[in-house]
Amino acid sequence: MTEAPRSPLASVPIDFLGSFPDPAHQLLPPLPEFAFVGRSNAGKSSLLNALTGRRALARVSQTPGKTQLLNIYRLPTLYLIDLPGYGWAQASQGARKAYRALLEAVLTTRTSLTGVIWLLDIRHTPSADDVEFQTLLANAERDVLVVLTKADKLTRNQQNEALILRARELGVATDQIQVVSAHTGQGIADLAESMLAAGLEVA
Ligand code: GDP
Repeated sequence: MTEAPRSPLASVPIDFLGSFPDPAHQLLPPLPEFAFVGRSNAGKSSLLNALTGRRALARVSQTPGKTQLLNIYRLPTLYLIDLPGYGWAQASQGARKAYRALLEAVLTTRTSLTGVIWLLDIRHTPSADDVEFQTLLANAERDVLVVLTKADKLTRNQQNEALILRARELGVATDQIQVVSAHTGQGIADLAESMLAAGLEVA
């Protein structure tokens, strides 16, 4: 098997700017901004680490539901916004409501946001939480790139079948979906290239 190409974001300096409660927190200088979001355990921390070539940029398996914050990283030409994962069954009604409000505010009022990178486990049909999040995305009319994670759990044939199934379930074209594995590096460089290309359009 050939080795996956290295992410072009893997060798650049990265600054952790902080954790911000304000969904409109303004970033200077203005640069393309990409928000990463997905169901808790979808593989977001692992993906951020793989994308940036860091071992522990984002902590893997953060305690679900603990944060209501935007964790923001500055790279030379773009910002990464790590949004808290959704779908934690044990969260209280109040916590869910606050979380939903945060996501909604980011999606609807954050005009500086370039795009949303939405993570889903390649093996699973979108959950009720995923569908709810998709409704928020659609209402906000955001540019979205769907990322199907943990591809290494399937063979290439199974990946192709799952890609077609997930595309149908989500009602999106397969070319709007990137299949990745944080473990093997599959698709990671392509994802980074897509972000850099999208950033160029808006810069
Ligand atoms: P998060 O909650 O969305 O940040 O997800 P994590 O990155 O913490 O990952 C959740 C679990 O899935 C962990 O046990 C990871 O090791 C595992 N995981 C994440 N990405 C991959 C992947 O690409 N392949 C495999 N096989 N497991 C993964």
